Amino acid sequence: MLTNSLVELDRQHLVHPVSSFQGHEARGVRVLKSGNGARVTDVEGRELIDGFAGLWCVNAGYGHQSVVDAAAKQMSELPYATGYFDLGAEAPIRLAAELAERAPGDLNHVFFTLGGSDAVDSTIRYIRYYWYARNQPKRDQFISVDQGYHGSTTIGSGLTGLPAFHEGFGVPFDWQHKILSHDLYRHPEGNNPQAVIDASVAELRAKIETVGPERVAAFFVEPIQGSGGVLVPPKGWIKAMRDICTEYGVLFIADEVITGFGRTGPLFACSEEGIVPDFMTTAKGLTSGYAPMGAVFMSDHIYDTIAQGAGPRAVGHGFTYSGHPVSAAVALEVLKLYEGGILENGCRAGAQLMAGLETLRDHPLVGDVRGRGMLAAVELVTDKEKKTPIPATVQPATRLFDRAWEQGLVIRSFAQGIFGYAPPLCCTPEDIDGIIERTKTVLDQTLEDPEIRQVLR
Ligand code: PLP
Repeated sequence: MLTNSLVELDRQHLVHPVSSFQGHEARGVRVLKSGNGARVTDVEGRELIDGFAGLWCVNAGYGHQSVVDAAAKQMSELPYATGYFDLGAEAPIRLAAELAERAPGDLNHVFFTLGGSDAVDSTIRYIRYYWYARNQPKRDQFISVDQGYHGSTTIGSGLTGLPAFHEGFGVPFDWQHKILSHDLYRHPEGNNPQAVIDASVAELRAKIETVGPERVAAFFVEPIQGSGGVLVPPKGWIKAMRDICTEYGVLFIADEVITGFGRTGPLFACSEEGIVPDFMTTAKGLTSGYAPMGAVFMSDHIYDTIAQGAGPRAVGHGFTYSGHPVSAAVALEVLKLYEGGILENGCRAGAQLMAGLETLRDHPLVGDVRGRGMLAAVELVTDKEKKTPIPATVQPATRLFDRAWEQGLVIRSFAQGIFGYAPPLCCTPEDIDGIIERTKTVLDQTLEDPEIRQVLR
């Protein structure tokens, strides 16, 4: 009864992010009610393993009372303080300092946002201001990577390399350029790490030369492409891209909205690559999804240039909720949890997850298994040799998602039939076993699906 009325209200009034309006109306919403550890329960009492940590964000897992207490304490003491007019509050100040201490290299300055999209947007504004301050305002061209995702603002969706975010929205702009993804499974150079690195180096160099080395402001990249289907670059790819940017004086931006806060093992994935970006964008795991917040990290030389360029004038960028005290108090507590054992647990669970997913490689439908830490994907194909994706006419995304749900597993199901995994880092060995077993059942059921059998032939 409750479910029926909620489904109806949702259908009539709630617009869902990145969804087919018509498809959603037809299918109806599934309403979640509670969560504990790596498990969530819906309003009908069905318990599921959350193999996707909400939207790759609940890294610490559900039900941490200490986070609730930190938020409640901050709310009752001081729910809001602006950062405008030289004002501030203790929690965002302490959080900025804690983050700067842990960030790679000299990323010592932190601007808080409400999430990842406005972290990307803020970064673009600061980049423009930086080049203005350096008296090079013609540096207004940006390069990013096909299949990358950089949020859903007008500018971020243009940097994004996924057509679904462009069609009908008038983006990308003509100052937003792309190079090919490093997708090892489907790269024209084949599954050859060094050849892929060489090809990307040549392409980035050529792109900078074509656009004009004096025009290129920055290059944006995710350490692992998330929304593009969990595409892991070959070891050395990120460093090679960083080196080209350094050579040309182009700013290098690591978008760590998914990879940050332990998703791939360490607190920040770019530290695994041994590079320091000029800016780093984060969100999601920063508060583990308990409150909205993102953070832009900027290096000393960026901060100093902007400060000097502006002199006594205000740098006109900010939000009412920049550095929200409740979100900051939540993030401080979440950081304690990460360092109190959850990051370590995530490394153990990530090794178990990858080993478990590898055992599925021989399944007739599995074309590729990839990932790092607690970030992984299994790509389904109808012909392993030809790497034929499941045709869109079969609607693999909803078909696979529904089947997993029936098995008590929440996963990301990308178009073309790619399973995405980003479970909470607090997963127990039983949670990970459950994810693997349920995935195997879904694969077996899918193999028996008459519509899939038809395209297999
Ligand atoms: N950047 C990356 C790499 C992301 O994966 C995302 C979201 O998934 C964003 C930016 C946008 O973040 P948000 O959805 O919090 O606005």
